[in-house]
Amino acid sequence: MSHRVASIQDPSLPERALDITAHGATDAGRVRRANEDGFCVLAHVGLFVVADGMGGAAAGEVASRMLVDNVRRAVEDGETTWPTDTSVNGPESGPRRFLAGVHRANRRIHALGRADGRKRGMGTTFAGVLVLDRCAVIAHVGDSRVYRLRDGELELMTSDHSLANEYVKLGVLRPDQIATFSRRNVITRAVGIDESVEVDLKIVDLRAGDAIMLCSDGLHGEVGDDEIAAVLRSVPGPEEAVAALIELANAHGGSDNITAVVVRLADAP
Ligand code: CA
Repeated sequence: MSHRVASIQDPSLPERALDITAHGATDAGRVRRANEDGFCVLAHVGLFVVADGMGGAAAGEVASRMLVDNVRRAVEDGETTWPTDTSVNGPESGPRRFLAGVHRANRRIHALGRADGRKRGMGTTFAGVLVLDRCAVIAHVGDSRVYRLRDGELELMTSDHSLANEYVKLGVLRPDQIATFSRRNVITRAVGIDESVEVDLKIVDLRAGDAIMLCSDGLHGEVGDDEIAAVLRSVPGPEEAVAALIELANAHGGSDNITAVVVRLADAP
């Protein structure tokens, strides 16, 4: 089983209100040969992303990688779509750059999909977290998710852009029927499909002791929220927690690519 692993632990950063320890990993699962998921863990800038690509002829891998690269570059290097923006070093510039990276990825993936017939319809989900002082910007498109564990309680911070979730919201489908819903993999929004994309955004507060978990549907489609909560409660180390979550998804069938990023927040020493 091939793992692509990134880990950064940097407690020595100046003036950050919370210490961040984080780890991410992806696994092809037990059925699919290719892995179209992507992720990044950049604790030094507080950026965490999971992307789940789609499209034939390896286009899904390309789309998820383009998304991760564009968001990472936008946040890390200050690459911005507003070159004349004088507030680029202001306190709001991080979240702006974060969003700008998603929109830039959308335009580039869409353009590539149109230019290359084999990549037509390529796209990717996006789940991203940008940790600021004592809060985080959470953004998403599609059915990759962000959870927060606080005081032992797991809370879903995103609402899937999926056909199943739309049906649940309409009252046509019960939440317990999603697992057996034949079109549970159909998403209603993705980065790169259209010329522009709507990104859901929220800001949540963060405290020492909180954990954040980002994942693709290969994890949350196989592993129930109660099991996810049990792992995050009982396994303090992000690396061990990620490994345990991926192992659970594979134990439950591993029918899709599995990606998880776990972020732990603690008071600075
Ligand atoms: Ca998937």
